[in-house]
Amino acid sequence: MNKNIKDFDLSELKEEFKNINEKPYRAEQVYEWIYKKRINTFDEMTNLSKDLRDKLNDYFHFGLFNIVKKLVSKDGTKKYLFDINDGKGSLIETVLMQYHHGYTVCVSSEIGCPMGCTFCASTGIKFDRGLTPGEIIEQIMAIEREENVKVSNIVFMGIGEPFDNYDNVMKAIKIINDPKALEIGARHISISTSGIVPKIYDLAESGYQCTLSISLHSANNDKRSQMMPVNKAYPIEELIKACKYYIEKTNKRISFEYALAKDNNDNLDDAKELVNLLHGMLCHVNLIPINKIDNGKYSKSTNENIIKFRDYLNSKGITATIRRELGSDINAACRPIKKAVSWR
Ligand code: SAH
Repeated sequence: MNKNIKDFDLSELKEEFKNINEKPYRAEQVYEWIYKKRINTFDEMTNLSKDLRDKLNDYFHFGLFNIVKKLVSKDGTKKYLFDINDGKGSLIETVLMQYHHGYTVCVSSEIGCPMGCTFCASTGIKFDRGLTPGEIIEQIMAIEREENVKVSNIVFMGIGEPFDNYDNVMKAIKIINDPKALEIGARHISISTSGIVPKIYDLAESGYQCTLSISLHSANNDKRSQMMPVNKAYPIEELIKACKYYIEKTNKRISFEYALAKDNNDNLDDAKELVNLLHGMLCHVNLIPINKIDNGKYSKSTNENIIKFRDYLNSKGITATIRRELGSDINAACRPIKKAVSWR
């Protein structure tokens, strides 16, 4: 089968061209057509000879997606179900959110998710494989084509665990970041992880200035293990140690995600444990009113508890904000899976 041309960063594409006896500068031309002129057929690349265009058609494809379904929220958030054309009928979901500062795309990193978090809608989706770099990038480019917009921020908070697909995610980030490709600054790219500790160290060493979000959800090992099986492999002490290393190495603030579930992790004792854990760290806590999934045992905290929780953290010097929910009417905000599944 021919290769997805979007799986390669520019230096790799030059190598690919060399391997088929073409000059590396041709790769630069093609790269510019794809990422700057947004052309998706070799036949439109008018500075290439007909012979070369035919040859490239034999070696590469553009990995284009088809929109199977698009849902539009009343707040403007859009959710897409893509057929990724991998020959297996795989479908993935991506969300576009509009903020005053621009457009943010929430990308999926895997087909399904292997992590098994008990409160998360993605757990009901059968895990297949990690997405390739080209499949991650195409989520952004397909939306830009469809909506005729330029996306300014990327969050890896869709389906899947980005650190379970680390190499492909980092390659995608390289291309997203590349001034010759999508040109989105690393500071505008956030990766959210359930806490695969060794990859936090890898990210710290990578030199990329992206924002790291940690799905924490509890400062207590027993509670966190109930919510997130990954905690049994990488308990809170190891996670926090890695986070401290990351902060020291990058001098960047970490964002801790904390989804508040009624009578589970939302009382004052939970807030106290959290303060003890995060005390003195360069961090921010993002409080999310948990969205109940079908047959899920966790339900949303009361507004009163959420506000109390936030105020307590803030009073102890830990900045905490309550995340605005976008697209909840279209099941875009980590919402119950049922409707999403009925798409399939
Ligand atoms: N696997 C990664 C990224 C995907 S989840 C991770 O775990 O971080 C993106 C964010 O949504 C995470 O913070 C996750 O904990 C949160 N989330 C998942 N299900 C949720 C739910 N039902 N309600 C609220 N937040 C949820």
